[in-house]
Amino acid sequence: MTLSKQNIIPVLLPYPFKEPLNYLLPEDLKFQKILPGSFVIVPLNQRKEIGIIWQHHSLPSGLTKLPTKQKRIKNLKEIISILPVSPLPPVLLEFIEWVAQYNFTELGSVLAITIRNIKIILKPEKKQFGWLKVPNVSLSIKMTKARKKILEFIQTQDRLYSSKELIDRLHITSSTLIGLEKAGIIAKQLIPHVSFFPKPDLYFHQPSLSDEQQKAADFLSQKVIDHQFSVTLLQGITGSGKTEVYMQAIATCIEQKKQILVLLPEIALSSQWTDRFAKRFGVNPALWHSDLTLKLRRQTWQAISKNQISVLVGARSALFLPFRNLGLIIVDEEHETAFKQEEGVIYNARDMAIVRAKLTNCPIILVSATPSMETLINAYQGKYHHLTLTKRHAGAVMPHTELIDMKISYPQRGHYLSPPLIKATQQVLSKNEQILLFLNRRGYAPLTLCRACGYRLECPHCSAWLVEHRNTHKLVCHHCDYFIPIPKECPHCNAKDSLVPIGPGIERITEEAKITFPNARILVMSSDTLNSPKMTTEAIRQIMEKEVNLIIGTQIVAKGWHFPDLTLVGIIDADLGLTGADLRAAEKTLQLLHQVGGRAGRSHFPGTVMIQSYLTNHPVMNTLIRGDFNQFMLEEAQERQNQFWPPYGRLAAIIVSADTNQDAIETAHLLGQTAPQDPNIVILGPAPAPLSLLRNRYRQRLLLRTRKNIAIQLILHQWLDSIKTKKNVKIEVDIDPISFL
Ligand code: ADP
Ligand code: ZN
Repeated sequence: MTLSKQNIIPVLLPYPFKEPLNYLLPEDLKFQKILPGSFVIVPLNQRKEIGIIWQHHSLPSGLTKLPTKQKRIKNLKEIISILPVSPLPPVLLEFIEWVAQYNFTELGSVLAITIRNIKIILKPEKKQFGWLKVPNVSLSIKMTKARKKILEFIQTQDRLYSSKELIDRLHITSSTLIGLEKAGIIAKQLIPHVSFFPKPDLYFHQPSLSDEQQKAADFLSQKVIDHQFSVTLLQGITGSGKTEVYMQAIATCIEQKKQILVLLPEIALSSQWTDRFAKRFGVNPALWHSDLTLKLRRQTWQAISKNQISVLVGARSALFLPFRNLGLIIVDEEHETAFKQEEGVIYNARDMAIVRAKLTNCPIILVSATPSMETLINAYQGKYHHLTLTKRHAGAVMPHTELIDMKISYPQRGHYLSPPLIKATQQVLSKNEQILLFLNRRGYAPLTLCRACGYRLECPHCSAWLVEHRNTHKLVCHHCDYFIPIPKECPHCNAKDSLVPIGPGIERITEEAKITFPNARILVMSSDTLNSPKMTTEAIRQIMEKEVNLIIGTQIVAKGWHFPDLTLVGIIDADLGLTGADLRAAEKTLQLLHQVGGRAGRSHFPGTVMIQSYLTNHPVMNTLIRGDFNQFMLEEAQERQNQFWPPYGRLAAIIVSADTNQDAIETAHLLGQTAPQDPNIVILGPAPAPLSLLRNRYRQRLLLRTRKNIAIQLILHQWLDSIKTKKNVKIEVDIDPISFL
């Protein structure tokens, strides 16, 4: 790296800093080779911090920032030391810069995602010693029982045992070990480091693919061999073997001795994915998600960095791992909104995965039965390759879909299951097959109302109703941590026993199902009941081994699961996502319901999907019946084209929040007044956000819409950097928003 005359070194720290800070290189480090990406310790406000030696990358012109003010170069502090670990790879530094610029966030905040827990991660593995019998030495001391036990044991094992292990196992004391050591009979030796990440076996179990699958797999394998950036959409109906197909591309990439990153929208999905991987390759893949123990986190980070892991499956943050030799990225269920990180650094992991593939110059595969609008349009416009799988594996057919008009076939008063759905469920139960009842709402009831005065119980910190969770006897806010015990009287008019639950959540459906189907073995799946990968694994086992036959779940069951004996899916309230002013309401609902329905009849028995709805003429319902997802999306896209809504234009949401409503409104209006005037830019708002109060912060929103060829980041810089705000006011930018709350 070229250093200036004064040896000024920019160091980026993992805090919300927009820029690296300048430090001096001390005399004793002047002759050391200093690479960007190196880990250093520097002083910051009386503390010592770990940072990264930085070097800016040139980004595409749209993303380049305006020059910042000349930075302080007087009285600079010195770097304390350079840590003896490999620097972050250059492509990762470039990626961090990209993510920060594209998503309009501070460089240091993105670094913070990358090197979270870095102190622990960098700590070297503890060295472990074990005991070895010294060969050809005469037994010069008396052989007591304990001594004999030790010698016999260590000579018959195929690995070294540590003192602690021997003491625990043989019930001996450490002085016995020391005695033997002093006599020269046994000696300590370093236990060699075993890799926790065994190599996949390419030939462990190779499925024979159908013609259609083979063609797709060959195409993807060729992309891997080409070692070049390309994006391929792998679209196949649910159960068509998409996973099987991309496993083939993974195999090719392993053969090329390159690393593979697979992103899943939810860690809950990783257990079934891991099993499938193990069946195909004989070993487990490495995992990366927020629930890993710190030890495993350290081992995984270090092994990725040393190129010792070939396949890693993970959640969003896996994108920021220091891969050295990445050869393929796969984003499974690419349409999932869970890929969007909505807090802290707001970014879409699917889009950033494409950036990472581009910078790495490797192929990326986007996988879905119901691709997002952006991806589908890019595929139709020829920007992405488009592979389709049209048949279910082994002759399984797509489920038969029926609409239940709730205006005609209505449930009993206070109930939610319609007569046709009840009848179908009973039939499936009697055939010893499985049913999934789906409702995307946690808890017992979304609203609690006083029958006497009409009061609705709301969160005091958010503009949201409290949701009853009867299992835990609480009313809970789903937006913050607030909860109260279910009150006995109305907090407003003090009427006794006047509070009634309005509407259903899955706890209420479970209550109804228990009464309606007394012999069913019920399993409830929601983020309340499955809050760790272990619990998910257990739930999957219960389903696979048919210990349960009636599953009641939220969107957590909609994702890529494969349950062979599940033949009926009942959608309790198909209209749920369609209300509200969300631009993508129809698209999201369609994707979700299509996915849920796709769980039915994936194996030897045909499946049925029954959809309860009041909106039986809605285009979403028609599409679900006809099954022509792409057609719906193309029509929907066309409607957006004239006005340059995405995917034909760009959006950025600006969220102003403050401690008082007045401060929020003032700043939002100031933004409105100073908004850029340009015929190609449309500003909507300011207006109170639908969640106008969230965790005690008042919120206003603006929406910026431009043509696609306009660099929205540059406009935002020019606009927002000129605004002065009070200390309690925060302006957040959400590029390509998918939530409008
Ligand atoms: P998708 O990901 O498209 O929903 P999957 O890859 O999960 O589909 O395939 C559905 C089921 O069919 C899985 O159990 C999978 O193992 C099986 N399957 C698909 N293709 C094959 C094949 N060629 N050989 C054996 N099993 C297959
Ligand atoms: Zn709240």
